[in-house]
Amino acid sequence: MKKRIEQIKELITRSAQRCDRNPDDIRLVAVSKKVSAERVREAIEAGVAIFGENYIQEARKKINILTSLDVSWHFIGHLQSNKAKYAVKLFELIHSVDSLKLARRLSQEAKKINKIQQILIQVNIGQDAVKSGISPAETGRLLKEIRRLENISVKGLMIMPPFFDDPQKSRPYFTTLKDLRNRFREELSIDAAPNISMEELSMGMTADFEVAIECGATIVRVGTAIFGARN
Ligand SMILES: *Cc1c(COP(=O)(O)O)cnc(C)c1O
Repeated sequence: MKKRIEQIKELITRSAQRCDRNPDDIRLVAVSKKVSAERVREAIEAGVAIFGENYIQEARKKINILTSLDVSWHFIGHLQSNKAKYAVKLFELIHSVDSLKLARRLSQEAKKINKIQQILIQVNIGQDAVKSGISPAETGRLLKEIRRLENISVKGLMIMPPFFDDPQKSRPYFTTLKDLRNRFREELSIDAAPNISMEELSMGMTADFEVAIECGATIVRVGTAIFGARN
């Protein structure tokens, strides 16, 4: 596993250099859904600092076991509002916020534990196969509402394109997300919103993270290439 992690880091560095980006501006999230705590520990020892989980129950168990270790946990799966109270306790960044209802619940629960919860908005740019995420137009409206939520800080956008055999086919989704992020960033700088910063683009997985980096990804979410195929 150590070798694979080193290879992925090397590919991240090379992709960044190809497009004159600083490799330090790209964070690797190791997606550890369905991966045991023991193997997560192995990845930590091999130099991984951030893990991404999709299911609250599974993540709670795992994080409890590994609680003494200095790593950060991100939530990347679909989140139901009634699990918001667990999510704010466990995760530094929640990538998958796609409704005002969920953002409100997260803000309420974060307030109870005196936390500002960092989130990304998951956007759906006409991906028929993917049900999560909200349209670009709805994203604009959601951001306006989120400005009023005291315990939420929006750091950027996330996307999960449909799966393609050819990673180049993800490219239009990634560039559209970046354009959208830039547009919101401009609008928001005119219309000051202290809890919305929009520097992050969470995009790219095992099949297409190099393309995503060329398109501006600041966070890549890689599972299979690190831990092998999931069953
Ligand atoms: C599972 C998952 C990943 C990782 O996918 P791989 O193809 O295994 O790298 C990334 N992002 C999300 C949202 C996922 O659910």
